[in-house]
Amino acid sequence: MKILVLNSGSSSVKYQLWDTPDKGVLAKGLVSRIGIDDPLHQHKVNDREIEFAPDEPINHEKAIQLLLDALVSPKHGVIARIDEIDAVGHRVVHGGEKFSDSALITPEVIEAIKECIPLAPLHNPPNLMGIIACEKVLDVPQVAIFDTAFHQTMEPYAYIYALPYEFYDEYKIRRYGFHGTSHYYVAHQAAKMLGKRIEELKIITAHLGNGASITAVKNGKCIDTSMGLTPLEGLVMGTRCGDIDPAIVLFIMEQKNIDIKATNNLLNKKSGLLGISGATNDLRDVLKASANGVYRAKLALDVYCYRIRKYIGAYTAAMGGVDVLVFTAGIGENASPIRKKAVEGLEFAGLILDDDKNNRTVGIPGDISAKDASARILVIPTNEELVIATETERIVNENLN
Ligand code: ADP
Repeated sequence: MKILVLNSGSSSVKYQLWDTPDKGVLAKGLVSRIGIDDPLHQHKVNDREIEFAPDEPINHEKAIQLLLDALVSPKHGVIARIDEIDAVGHRVVHGGEKFSDSALITPEVIEAIKECIPLAPLHNPPNLMGIIACEKVLDVPQVAIFDTAFHQTMEPYAYIYALPYEFYDEYKIRRYGFHGTSHYYVAHQAAKMLGKRIEELKIITAHLGNGASITAVKNGKCIDTSMGLTPLEGLVMGTRCGDIDPAIVLFIMEQKNIDIKATNNLLNKKSGLLGISGATNDLRDVLKASANGVYRAKLALDVYCYRIRKYIGAYTAAMGGVDVLVFTAGIGENASPIRKKAVEGLEFAGLILDDDKNNRTVGIPGDISAKDASARILVIPTNEELVIATETERIVNENLN
């Protein structure tokens, strides 16, 4: 089945054309600077990248038309006709409590995604724009794959905040969690790598990218995850603070006399590795600065890794043990010093690194645990687009065949 995978953001649309189940990615690309000057379209087939610069501002519908044109172009296309595309899979950030599974897009599903806008005001509207634009230019089934769906198996004691319960009833304030497709993918890959059934494993998955979250997966089901109502909670991230005393927010607003928007910006865009280091949110640069003896860079790494270690400990307790720890995403897949520091002192839980294997495993899958350790530590490159493609195929087959 040929499936177009779309990730529509406010000013960009990322795409991949998949041929499932065996042929993989035929082409991919990014249309960026939507709605502003100087739009850009980068299209990649195999290792060849072509850039187009549309000469006037574009909207989401035009962006999708451009990427479809590129896919059928005689020069750098990979299909002869648009109607070779069998379905479209959309990444949708927030599915609230309505979606614990991917869903075939219908008018009711679009309404339900709209109802989740207050929970993800920056993400769901552009996701919807992608869906609506596609409906205009393609007459094929479309499927929504939600970042929150995998976490819907959490028990109320893991997702309810200790606020007046009416806030849950009235506003649906609770823990939702994000990066669900990534946690789902690497947890299943981990079971495969170990030749075990996921139903018999206690897995902790650490997705460490610019955004970062960590999830406890017991017997194949998410039982807890570090992101909350929004992606701000939990681990220290590139520019997000993760867990803090909520009273700090009130204190800062009062002391600095800043409004909700500025405070939101401070916590989401100015904090994390960037905030502590004062220089950068890019982990590679923080590592370099720390190696050069810059105190705040070293401190940022210490705080970053200590937070991960605490969560691993908490989730080990929550699951009554741990069989596998998985590292994924930009930092998890590549940054061996972070992996080493994050698991320091966790020998009591059976999590022991092999330094050589850890150092050698950069950007590739591998088992980096010491031979005799009772738990495994794995590095698994994530592949959210693969999950979106296979989920789309599954939902289309279930609903339409
Ligand atoms: P996003 O959340 O934007 O998808 P990524 O998963 O691409 O983020 O991760 C970005 C982070 O990964 C950055 O902090 C970057 O410094 C880090 N990273 C990427 N490659 C390496 C590497 N080789 N060594 C250390 N860190 C890396």
